[in-house]
Amino acid sequence: MGACGYCRRPAGGTLCRDCARRMVRDVNDLARLIPELRALAERKARIGGREGAMNHAVAGLPVSCEWMDVHDEARTLMLRVAALGEIRWMLAPPGAWKGAWRWILANHAKVTSSPQAGDLLDGLERLLHHIDRATTPCDGRVTVVDCPSCGQRLAVPEHMESGRCPACHDRLDDLQGLVRSRLKDLHERTWQGSPAEAALWLTGHAGVRVTRKQVTDWLRRGRLPKARALRRGVWLFNLAELVEVAQAPAAA
Ligand SMILES: [Zn+2]
Ligand SMILES: [Zn+2]
Repeated sequence: MGACGYCRRPAGGTLCRDCARRMVRDVNDLARLIPELRALAERKARIGGREGAMNHAVAGLPVSCEWMDVHDEARTLMLRVAALGEIRWMLAPPGAWKGAWRWILANHAKVTSSPQAGDLLDGLERLLHHIDRATTPCDGRVTVVDCPSCGQRLAVPEHMESGRCPACHDRLDDLQGLVRSRLKDLHERTWQGSPAEAALWLTGHAGVRVTRKQVTDWLRRGRLPKARALRRGVWLFNLAELVEVAQAPAAA
């Protein structure tokens, strides 16, 4: 009896029975994730984060180059797994991944008994773990900036370095630089108006939908310490502070 090509326990074939099952399960997981990866790369951001929050995004999220890469990697991996059983899959275009997936399910014994099955199972496990880690929800903090090429409003998440504008498709290599200059710009600006006008301003300029009542609540609860009451119903707001509170996940 030889050793399993993945877990190294004694096995009758290239893979032990557990690892052969695991490979089929991983292939099915990957097939379920591929369309989701594409959606992730192109999704619209929900500003203000959490489920049930009152704020909804009105700004587009840059198309994530990183998720597009993972999407390509996932489709290519599906073809490579199918190629274990039949070499012609090596030459298939990435868009043929669905056909490859069905072929794998119909011929799984051939695939899992290939001499390279252990390496490909390792590749599947790594990619699936990477996707799991990367999709674990983190703080939904975003900053709204304008695309330097076309002016499209973009919601940039905290750690996103580069992306593609969903409107003009220009590649933006320094998203965090745009975020920094946007915040600096806002810190130097104040703005006068009523809470209702502040809510409208946020919707129009910061990509966050808020209500007059929310702004009034923030003022009452001291969440806008830099705001000054000028006269009855009219306040001087610091724009950076206003945007920050509006975009905080607990804003609603
Ligand atoms: Zn094994
Ligand atoms: Zn653009």
